[in-house]
Amino acid sequence: MKILLFGCAGQVGGELQRTLSKLGELIAVDIDSIDLCGDFRDLKGIENTVRTVKPDVIVNAAAYTDVDRAEYDRELANVINVLAPAVLASAAKRINAWLIHYSTDYVFDGSGEGRWCETDQALPLNVYGVTKLDADMAIQISGCKYLIFRTSWLYSTRPRNFIFSVLAHATELERFPVVTDQIGAPTGANLIARGTLLAIRAASANSGVNGLYHFTADGFTSRYAYAKYIIDTAINFGLPLKCGPDSIQPVLTATSPTGAARPLNCRLSTDKFKRTFGITLPTWQSETKKFLYSYIHERNCLSQVIENRRISRQC
Ligand code: NDP
Repeated sequence: MKILLFGCAGQVGGELQRTLSKLGELIAVDIDSIDLCGDFRDLKGIENTVRTVKPDVIVNAAAYTDVDRAEYDRELANVINVLAPAVLASAAKRINAWLIHYSTDYVFDGSGEGRWCETDQALPLNVYGVTKLDADMAIQISGCKYLIFRTSWLYSTRPRNFIFSVLAHATELERFPVVTDQIGAPTGANLIARGTLLAIRAASANSGVNGLYHFTADGFTSRYAYAKYIIDTAINFGLPLKCGPDSIQPVLTATSPTGAARPLNCRLSTDKFKRTFGITLPTWQSETKKFLYSYIHERNCLSQVIENRRISRQC
């Protein structure tokens, strides 16, 4: 099997690059690639990359993911998140390749307290969500074979995510605020890569699995409880922090304005994903704990956590 991966420098892309080579030949590109174009601003270029490589599977992990900046950078967000995936979808159709694409809980408006199903009406609150929903629809009507995975609250060893933001704050401050009313499922990029591998295997055996799926770790939590869990676990693993779990200040989203509006209820139902692929999803707690253990102990990255302060302040 020949796989062409776009966006290999990102959180999910990096994990996919490590994982998907188990399936066969993997050609991975990112925005800076030289021999093959991986820059989503160059629509002709990425089309030529597909034409040259002729993969069996195209995996798109590239995206414009800066949710706040997208509000005033709408045109570029649209090119990267909508036009480029649409080009990949029609290129995939032309060569009868699968397109694997990632989408987001931010396509929903976050109302209510239920779990969002794939068939629920999406109504994004921000530009990023609009672009991701537009791409979901463009891929679905393209006629290519596709798997779209909507996921949430991703983290990886790349520093720009909630875990590193919390650790950076807790390294420097005795107290800081976190919202209590945004609910979702923290999900490791590594879990997404493992699930993607299994789903590609299933798809190559049975094209009937074609479709859109919600795919996150199991269970839900608030940003506030998640931050407490991160700090508590990190301290237990020996990371010296200034802020303990009980010193985080609970606040409401309405009193902590951000550039883009955020949906509150981001609970995604993963029933369809689990049923179709026969996969049991691990809890967000067990995955977060494994991640922190490996990051703090095995990689001995304490100094990097501190160095990451500067970077994660930008998140
Ligand atoms: P990342 O931002 O870590 O990765 C996206 C990659 O795309 C980055 O390497 C980024 O580069 C790259 N990129 C940006 N512009 C271009 C361009 N013009 N051409 C090519 N590549 C470009 O995102 P994640 O791995 O976290 O997200 C993977 C997918 O999951 C995305 O589709 C995202 O929308 C979705 N998702 C993410 C969530 C999250 O919490 N992060 C939650 C739900 C869904 P650079 O870093 O230099 O900008």
